[in-house]
Amino acid sequence: MSERFDLLIRGGMCATPSGIVAADIGVRDGRIAAIGALGSAKAAEIFDARGLHVLPGIIDTHVHFREPGHLEKEDMETGSTAALLGGVTSVFEMPNTNPPTTTRLLVEDKLARAAQRMHCDHAFYVGASRENIGALSELERLPGVAGVKAFLGSSTGTLLLDKEDAIVQALKAGCRRMAVHSEDEARLQERAKLAMPGDPRTHPVWRDIETATRSTERVLKLAQAAGRPLHILHVASAEELPLIAAARDVATVEAAVPHLTLAAPECYEKLGTYAQINPPIRDARHRDALWRAVNDGLIDVVGSDHAPHTRADKERIYPQTASGMPGVQTLVTLLQDALEDPELVASSLDSIPDPLAVTPHAANSKAFGLREIIGAFQEQRMDRDVICVTPLLSLCCFDLSYTAELTPGDEIALVGYAADPSPPTPSHYFC
Ligand SMILES: [Zn+2]
Repeated sequence: MSERFDLLIRGGMCATPSGIVAADIGVRDGRIAAIGALGSAKAAEIFDARGLHVLPGIIDTHVHFREPGHLEKEDMETGSTAALLGGVTSVFEMPNTNPPTTTRLLVEDKLARAAQRMHCDHAFYVGASRENIGALSELERLPGVAGVKAFLGSSTGTLLLDKEDAIVQALKAGCRRMAVHSEDEARLQERAKLAMPGDPRTHPVWRDIETATRSTERVLKLAQAAGRPLHILHVASAEELPLIAAARDVATVEAAVPHLTLAAPECYEKLGTYAQINPPIRDARHRDALWRAVNDGLIDVVGSDHAPHTRADKERIYPQTASGMPGVQTLVTLLQDALEDPELVASSLDSIPDPLAVTPHAANSKAFGLREIIGAFQEQRMDRDVICVTPLLSLCCFDLSYTAELTPGDEIALVGYAADPSPPTPSHYFC
């Protein structure tokens, strides 16, 4: 008797723990029930994946969906729709909303908002502040919480934890991996005058390499002294990489897509303040060093740092402009595009480095211990999210599902795109 499934994904090239293999995938009761030659199997729904790569759903551990507080920039519904259309089936959302996510009530508010309107799996970061340090160890263990995030230098929103005594207290307050935005606040303040009005090319002059290394060196030492696992978000300078490599006993590290795909000064000349993000995009030496770190296995996780703003926020006179750019829907696409460039990535899709999507669960599990995350992020879902990507399709910026459509230019020709961009429904995507 032939096997029966609810869904059969036929004929795709599947990324499995043992490599890329031609295989069918049979899904039953929302779980992958079989991978292999299922030629005689029957199913209520059949998805023809010939010519496509079938990958595990991507986990993007760095997105800002701006809800509550700035729904004109993004909300959970549009942000999560964009995520699914881009092949991202799980997100960790950042705490610098308005109000910032710093209490149990505010975590519960986000979870309640997300319950009906987040189309993908999700967990929320709690923001560390002077006021909630005493509660962090309880907050980091709440259902639906991804961990604690601390802004060591100021960026978007009001969250800041820059004084050494406060950082030490926060590190000692809990035991889960603590994520940090690592820039030195005192140096940012001192050098603010170097941000020249109207000239976003001075963004990396103001927020210079030493702003990053000074902070990263300090927080790594403090984390080692406290014995606390640390996650350095969006590393953006070559100089920080050896510091992190020497502190692997406590540190994991993320590279963000803008820092991997853009370089100064061209990005500022072409995109102006649309390329303004924190930490800043620096010259090609840093981008190339980040790719070497991806290829060498130092980078644990690649995140989008999806951080949308409105056009008005981005079109004031620099430096009054907002920092951040959207990217959750183009994470997979841009990385696949980069895979076509042998100067950047020393591999093909068959031997893609860990953080670049084929084993995102392994990479993220290593960094975050995903099995510890309960509640909104349902562990049993992890093995049933799959995405199919086509090797060639040009993506038009009008296809993006963000609230704020902020991608400049008319069309970006990219290699690779999550296939079947029909309106997402949980049953369709959480196959
Ligand atoms: Zn961010």
